Formats: sequence, structure tokens, C-alpha cells
Amino acid sequence: VATVELISEPLDLEFAEPFRIARGVRTHGYNVLVHLRDGEHEGIGEAAPTVYYGESRATVLAALEVYREQLGDDPGAVRSISERLARTLRHNASARASLDMALWDLLGQRVGLPVHRLLGIDPTGAPTTSFTIGIDEPITMARNAAKAARQFKALKIKVGTEHDDEIIQAIRDVTDLPLYVDANTAWEPKEALRHIERLAQHNVTLIEQPVAAHDLAGLRFVRERSPLPVFADESCVGPHDVARLAGVVDGINIKLMKCGGITPALDMIATARAQGMRIMLGCMGAESSVAITAAAQISPLVDYADLDAALLLKADPFEGVTLTQGKLTLPDAPGLGVRRR
Ligand code: MG
Repeated sequence: VATVELISEPLDLEFAEPFRIARGVRTHGYNVLVHLRDGEHEGIGEAAPTVYYGESRATVLAALEVYREQLGDDPGAVRSISERLARTLRHNASARASLDMALWDLLGQRVGLPVHRLLGIDPTGAPTTSFTIGIDEPITMARNAAKAARQFKALKIKVGTEHDDEIIQAIRDVTDLPLYVDANTAWEPKEALRHIERLAQHNVTLIEQPVAAHDLAGLRFVRERSPLPVFADESCVGPHDVARLAGVVDGINIKLMKCGGITPALDMIATARAQGMRIMLGCMGAESSVAITAAAQISPLVDYADLDAALLLKADPFEGVTLTQGKLTLPDAPGLGVRRR
């Protein structure tokens, strides 16, 4: 007999500006909020489904009906529940992520501790987050970069266009902040090397997902010749991907919506560290402060954070993690520490 009640509701998010990457443009996120109630406390979670990873709001709602039957009668056994859900219905990671973060939120409230404290994580070690500059005309991207440079300590630059060189040059003309460049699978391996050689002359920190997600041989080819560290994002979905990427890339980008929540993300971090890999913690384009705050709870464990999605929204219905000159400040409140505005 389940002792927690699961309630879901749609969460429509709108971007302040259309957000373009190499694969396309988005204006809205059609997310799902979940609430887990034990009669005394209520945990909250968010699913941010993306078609690229095979999910939509409809698949999330359908998956939640399957997972509802698998929550069991001990909501504090988050690790067991996480594994059981993944075994019962694979993929559907954003649906599982919403439940995983709600379970951690609930557990934190029950014991009166922030999730990061439950996990033994030092909140003072939280990193700065980069701010993402979506694809646009080079002059517009430079203008957006100049504006972001007043508040952030690093920028993520989306490329994979006809004029990538002009983009980086235009941005370098307005800021000398560290740049994380993300090609979102846009290039062929040899083409990627030509781009990376030029990027390396512009003090770029790392190159993310230069080639197709399935092309691990291409990633390895690029990494062995690249003057810049190569990170995998689309090639690194869940825990099982981390070990096979060892020696193939220098680092990975972990996202709760790809892997299924905080619990599998912790496994990915441990595996990546054991393999000597660097770690970025990222997010999907459209996430409110519910999902962003959940990711921020484990951010002191990683090297780079790219947790800016809630800042790209026209309106964020929630508040949680805050920023001070680009540095993440974790809420000192039980559970996730997220509240409706
Ligand atoms: Mg990426």
C-alpha cells in the first residue's frame, strides 16, 4: 500500500526570447510538476521533457501512471525506488527525474535538512554557473554576451552555424570571460577539428559535443587531436554511458532530465571521478527553479555548472537557488528549498 499520494499538473513555460541551438529553435517548454504527499509534508518535482530524448508531456504523464504503482510504501528509500522505476520502465528519464527530486524534497522535509546536507555536501563549494548565448546573428550574440558578462563569470556559446568563426570573434571583441562552446552534434569529426583549432586561439575553455551523439569513434578521433578539452553531452545520457566514454572524452555534461534525477546523477559523478573525467552539470532549455534548484543541490560536486534555464524564461513561477555574481547560493531550507513565487 503506497503511503504517498502522487499528483501531477502541467507547467507551461515561455522563453523570454526564442532559444536557438544547432538542431532548432524553441519558444516554450511544456513541463510537468509532480507533488508527493505523505499526509504531513509535500515534495515537489519537475519533468522537462524534450522530443530529442523521446519524451513529451504526454509520455511523461503516461510514464507517471506506471511509476505511481512502483513507489512502494517507504518513500525514504529513494535509492531503491530510483532503481525500481528505471527497471520497470526504461527511458522516460525526465518523468523519473521529477519523482526522484520530489522524493528527495520529501525526505529532506521529513528530517528537517536541505537535500545537500542529507547528502553530506558542503554548500560553500557551489560553483558559478555559465549563462548561455543561443544562436543568432553574430552581432546579436555579441550584444547578449556583453550584457551577460556584467553578471556572470563564464558564458556558454551555442554554435553549429554557417558563421561560427564570426560568432566567436564578435563575442571575443566584447568580453574575455571563459567560454564553453557547444556545437550540439553539428560537425563531422574532421570539420570539428578545423573549428576547434580556431576556437583554441580565442581562449575557449572546452568544446561540448562537437560530433553526432552515436559517433563515439568520432569523439575519440577529435579528442586525441584537439587542443581543447572535449566534453560529451548528447553522447552521455545515463550512468551506463559514463564508463564507455572513459578515454573517449575529457569530461561529461550531466543533466537530471537525461539521467533520471539526483540519484543516478550521483552515480554518474562517482563513475566519472573514478575515470578521472571532468564534470559539467547542465539543464534543458526550459526548466523552472524547481528543477534548477534540484540540480544545484549537488552542484558542489562538479567542476562546471550550466544551470541557467530558469533565467531564460519570461516568468519563473518558483524560487529556490539564487545567484550572487554568477555563483550559485543553495537555499538553507529543508528539502529542495523551493517555493512558489
Ligand atoms: Mg550541450
